[in-house]
Amino acid sequence: MNENIIEIRWKKCNNCGFLQHNSHLRCLQCKSDNFSLINPSGLGTLVSYTILNAPPMEFREKKSYALGIIEFSNNIKTLGQITRTDNLKIGMKLKPIYQEICPNLDGKKVITYIFEPIEKLA
Ligand SMILES: [Zn+2]
Repeated sequence: MNENIIEIRWKKCNNCGFLQHNSHLRCLQCKSDNFSLINPSGLGTLVSYTILNAPPMEFREKKSYALGIIEFSNNIKTLGQITRTDNLKIGMKLKPIYQEICPNLDGKKVITYIFEPIEKLA
């Protein structure tokens, strides 16, 4: 597997069932450190998004791009780029795909997940 690929993975507390981002060392609800790693399931739903018209340095080759919060059917949420900036609607379904999102500043390709709307353009 390509080491540049970042998988979407969250922690589910084995004590209380609380779901949280995997960067936390202890459960935010009960302070347990006993977790199961879980992946998103099903399609994602667009919860919110914004269009960046002045991209940061890493994405300088893009004129603009969309950044959205996507929630999966098992309640995992993630932040990610969306493959297009037009015809985006809150509640629409998206699927994660892997692709190069930018040439990094050190010249290496950055390949990660980006969300592609399931609905076709009208
Ligand atoms: Zn807990």
